[in-house]
Amino acid sequence: MQVLKFGGSSVANAVNIQKVISIVLQAGKQDSTIVVVSALGGITDTLLDCGAKAANGDEGYKEVLQKIETRHLETVKSLIPVTQQSSILSLVKKTCNELEDVCTGVFLLGELSSRTKDKIVSFGELLSSQIIAHAFQQHTFCTWKDSRELIVTDDNFGSAKVDFEETNNRVHKFFNSKDNLAKLFVTPGFISSNKHGAGTTLGRGGSDYTAAIFAAALSADALQIWTDVSGMMTADPRLVANAKNIPHISYQEAMELSHFGAKVIYPPTIQPVMTKQIPTWVKNTFAPEDFGTLIETAPLENGSLIRGISSMNNIALLSLEGSGMIGIPGFSKRLFESLSNEKINVILITQSSSEHSISVALNTFDADKAKEAVDRQFDYEIKLRVLEPVTVEKDLAIVAVVGDHMRSHPGISGKMFGTLGRNGVSVRAIAQGSSERNISAVIAAKDVRKAINVLHEDFFETTYKQINLFIAGTGNVGGKLLAQLQQQAAFLQEHLRVQLKVAGLATSKKMLVRSEGIDLGNWQELLSEGEKSNLQQFVDQIKNNNLRNSIFVDITANETVATVYDQLLQSSVSVVACNKIACSSRYQNYKKLKDLAREYNVSFLFETNVGAGLPVIGTLNDLRRSGDTIKKIEAVLSGTLNFVFNNYDGSRPFAEVVKQAQDEGYTEPDPRLDLSGTDVMRKIMILARESGEKIEMEDISNDVFLPASCMEGDVPAFYEELKKHEAHFKKLYDEAAAQKCKLKFVAKFENGKASVGLQHINEQHDLYHLYGKDNIVLFYTNRYPSQPLVVKGAGAGAEVTASGVFADILRAV
Ligand code: ADP
Ligand code: ASP
Ligand code: MG
Repeated sequence: MQVLKFGGSSVANAVNIQKVISIVLQAGKQDSTIVVVSALGGITDTLLDCGAKAANGDEGYKEVLQKIETRHLETVKSLIPVTQQSSILSLVKKTCNELEDVCTGVFLLGELSSRTKDKIVSFGELLSSQIIAHAFQQHTFCTWKDSRELIVTDDNFGSAKVDFEETNNRVHKFFNSKDNLAKLFVTPGFISSNKHGAGTTLGRGGSDYTAAIFAAALSADALQIWTDVSGMMTADPRLVANAKNIPHISYQEAMELSHFGAKVIYPPTIQPVMTKQIPTWVKNTFAPEDFGTLIETAPLENGSLIRGISSMNNIALLSLEGSGMIGIPGFSKRLFESLSNEKINVILITQSSSEHSISVALNTFDADKAKEAVDRQFDYEIKLRVLEPVTVEKDLAIVAVVGDHMRSHPGISGKMFGTLGRNGVSVRAIAQGSSERNISAVIAAKDVRKAINVLHEDFFETTYKQINLFIAGTGNVGGKLLAQLQQQAAFLQEHLRVQLKVAGLATSKKMLVRSEGIDLGNWQELLSEGEKSNLQQFVDQIKNNNLRNSIFVDITANETVATVYDQLLQSSVSVVACNKIACSSRYQNYKKLKDLAREYNVSFLFETNVGAGLPVIGTLNDLRRSGDTIKKIEAVLSGTLNFVFNNYDGSRPFAEVVKQAQDEGYTEPDPRLDLSGTDVMRKIMILARESGEKIEMEDISNDVFLPASCMEGDVPAFYEELKKHEAHFKKLYDEAAAQKCKLKFVAKFENGKASVGLQHINEQHDLYHLYGKDNIVLFYTNRYPSQPLVVKGAGAGAEVTASGVFADILRAV
């Protein structure tokens, strides 16, 4: 004997039922078969909706009834040849009339008890199973049997408990009867009756259980659960795109996974088949050739530390706290008794070792009732103030990792909580089953998707890590970065196992957030169709999307953008800033951002603030981290100024050389930031801060060479003013040339003091041979006392700056 159960989607319509028939006919060649079916997909919900409408006095219930009838009639018409339809069509109509009678009664009374609810939903399975039995009769001899006559339960309508002794007797008697000639039986799942014959149900999803009850009672050779996925998977495939099939799993593991939310099997299903050690398969009606999952006693090892991850929403945490519990036995007994008296199901329990508090996780639906019951139970202690009134937290969820091998592998909980912590998921309560087969954590409901995905990645996917980028600024540098990201994507996936996804783009005008990722081949067009830009909304969307491994990349020079870093870091989003404003703001702000990054376990990186793509800050940090001390830094840090003084010899006006630097994209949007030395001051300040110095802009001396009048007005006015001072610049040049020196705008940091200014540099000096827009930084340290460590190369330009930002992104990864 074998039992095959087909779920709602497997029998949703005539096309699917045809697939079911061919699967059963194939399987039926070997053995007698019991087929258990659910209602047509969605019908149970529709029936409940119908009942609720009727009870609320909403006449709309009649329309819902009509839809239910039509759907079943249509199914019959496309499933069964015309000549054979009449008996089943009239059966469907008759059954629907009975349903209507019940609903009319509910409408008139304006009341829907759980007993009547069970009556109403039972029509779903009654209809589907009778239609399917008729369809089988076109091919082979088949008997329909009403499972309400076989499965006997208590009176707990909606989720009744099975009386196994009576049920097993009846099941035996019927299926093993000598008079029973059929080799194929079709029965409705989910429905049962109490000992007086009134209809009950086994709980939502209960058709799986019906099948398991039959299989166990008959010691069947196999139970097969046919559904719409190819077996149990390492996580809910609707939450985790990379969820993988689990080919072999133990009964206990399957039970834990389903208990904690893996909807693919109704939790009580496993117990009866486990007791009888009946091999149980989960198979896909729409891909019967796929292996599926075999649930068995001793499954094969699969090399993973755990077998699967599951999650449950709508959780509330009820906590009882107070000194009155310490050392006094019986508290937990009273707590659980008060809950069980109210028929409240406890999903998870934790007790602090100080015995100061007990917390239990329940379905949110039960939370208020539970609080009332427990407060009542401990009324005396609460009045005496040895216990606090019960607290209830809602909007929570549970994630659980499950596997038989946990007990022999230490460190699994460390890995689990490390992963959650790194991704900013805070854990409200923890429980580890004493079987050491599962570890579960209560977290905020909003974090579930992220938590499940990061855990899945960590435990199952050695393949790649997904990074979500949110980029502000798509100008020169931003545009180049997007091109580099697109070009490198395949390489990163293959060699670093990193998948970079741009999930958001914003400019001052437009913004676009797509958690599935923005097509980098077409970002300009997509962004132009995006919504109107609003920085705070962009940030809120990053936070609300709550995607794992998120990085915010600021490639603007905008002051307001620099003010959102703190919010992002506090939401565990890393920040990569090309924008210098935050790091060159007040020391306190710079320090706060660095501290937040440490506190929230994310990165705050800004390599391109100094020397564009050159590894200046990275080198400095490497030196310090490895124990070296920075004695002195000497540097040319302005690509613009170096370009200008390298190209100016009096033959062309100074203003023209500056304009060329701007046109070639080396200057800040306002070139005066470069020429006044302000930009260089910001850079040396950042290096000084990274060397451990608490320093502000006003602590830096600046020997300004730009006439003060050039600082007035807008950029075009500045160029006009610059022309007027040609003689001043020529004089600066000539004085240097007379001493065989070049002019270099040098930044220095030594003994806690920083300065910037124009200097005469002779040929012997390390700074002399520096061409074009290059930058150079000389680090004098304990380990490099006389010959400095030198970092030198192009210090401006979109392509190199973009590559520096790219490097920071990878560092954050
Ligand atoms: P049926 O109607 O056949 O009983 P269900 O909808 O009850 O089917 O269960 C199958 C669904 O369970 C799948 O479509 C899948 O989305 C969901 N599911 C949740 N967790 C898991 C998991 N760990 N493995 C497989 N499926 C899962
Ligand atoms: N039809 C019932 C439900 O939707 C039982 C089942 O499908 O297993 O819950
Ligand atoms: Mg199901």
